[in-house]
Amino acid sequence: MTPDDFRRHGKALIDWIADYWEAVADTPILPDVSPGDIRSRLPEHAPERPETFESMMADLDDIVMAGITHWQSPGWFAYFPANVSFPAILGDLAASGLGQQGMLWQTSPATTEIESHVLDWLVDLMALPSEWKTTGPGGGVLQMSASDSTHTAIVVARSRHTGVEPSRMVAYASSQAHSSIEKGANVAGIGHVRLVETDNEMAMRPDALEAAVLADEDAGLVPMFVCGTVGTTGTTAVDPIRAIGGIAERHDLWFHVDAAYAGNAMICQEFRHHIDGVELADSYTFNPHKWLLTNFDCSVFWVADRRPLIETMSIVPPYLRNAATDRGDVIDYRDWHVPLGRRFRALKLWFVLRHYGAEGLRAYIRSHVALAQSLTERIDAHPRLDTVAPTLFGLVSFAHVDGNEATQRIVEAINATRTSYVVPSTLGDRLFVRVAIGSTLTDTSHVDALWDAVESAV
Ligand code: PLP
Repeated sequence: MTPDDFRRHGKALIDWIADYWEAVADTPILPDVSPGDIRSRLPEHAPERPETFESMMADLDDIVMAGITHWQSPGWFAYFPANVSFPAILGDLAASGLGQQGMLWQTSPATTEIESHVLDWLVDLMALPSEWKTTGPGGGVLQMSASDSTHTAIVVARSRHTGVEPSRMVAYASSQAHSSIEKGANVAGIGHVRLVETDNEMAMRPDALEAAVLADEDAGLVPMFVCGTVGTTGTTAVDPIRAIGGIAERHDLWFHVDAAYAGNAMICQEFRHHIDGVELADSYTFNPHKWLLTNFDCSVFWVADRRPLIETMSIVPPYLRNAATDRGDVIDYRDWHVPLGRRFRALKLWFVLRHYGAEGLRAYIRSHVALAQSLTERIDAHPRLDTVAPTLFGLVSFAHVDGNEATQRIVEAINATRTSYVVPSTLGDRLFVRVAIGSTLTDTSHVDALWDAVESAV
């Protein structure tokens, strides 16, 4: 493909993406396919002869679109959102065009320095501890996912206990914490994971945490890691960060905060009381790819002190040695996570911050939270509906007072519209409707359409 061909096809593809975004609101969210349908339409063998770009574009429409789940629909209320925006797409395109490999400062100074700088900006924008900046003892790095960030934190925590068998180590999180905590601990070979009891609002009970830690210490085990969640996946419950931090300090646990979804809201001052005590954390993660208009993948991982992270992750083979690293003048992000190679993820985040400005991003988060509040008010005012958890951010969790069958009918009525989509969850035996408001295009009209479907089924 020559540069001129690339210009032509690239413009056609940008038009195709813009057309998609103009049509997505009216497109049924779930594809009508069975397992294997898409694959059965692909040739058995890879092409021997070159094909035209036009034929690839035709198959995008014909084959790919038949199997696309429309996460970017404004009626997408399932899971948590997976935000995309045009500035982020363009930033990602520029990153692809430059084809950078930012494993060392030396291999791409701009990839490294823009990433450090943008994550330092975010520390200020979210009023997080200034020690977390790369200009202080800590620093931020972009990872692929919150699961990677958490796994990395557990591995660093493990390395603090030299001479202790990982099989004797214990990690703690609440019973509502994301499965990535347990997975990360398993991958790191940690012997025990305790899922600590929660209170009526599904937040970790600090007394139960401390009792579990004491019992494990008495049993000769080695408590070494605790994760506090800000915005649990089920109901966006918030663990008591300051109390957990105090326990972590008393028992020498690495304190990690998982704010994968709700961390985005910290760009607005009014949500920051939820992370009171965050200065006690050793590490913290949140995902701009969930709710800050930045395409997947983009997960921020901050540490309060970068030394243990680098000491744990750094292995320098001779071919990676260079003068800047040897002088200790630079950040080499390969030492901040498991992968060596890394792409220029910060470019899309930089474009997003500059395009919207902090003001635009605050307005964006607030618009979704206001929609969630207005839906909550309608539910609270309805005699046959109950919220099952407080609406703290953009997630509304509710059920029919008549029980699970009636709640299931609401889910089916919403999904039968085909342009609104929810995935229910359970608390104990109780089924509830989980409405995550936060897609890029979602506005009042889409929440009204969802409400009409709810009303038709109660
Ligand atoms: N933590 C929480 C609280 C989440 O809600 C999620 C995903 O929804 C994750 C972690 C995992 O995020 P990722 O897909 O980036 O690993």
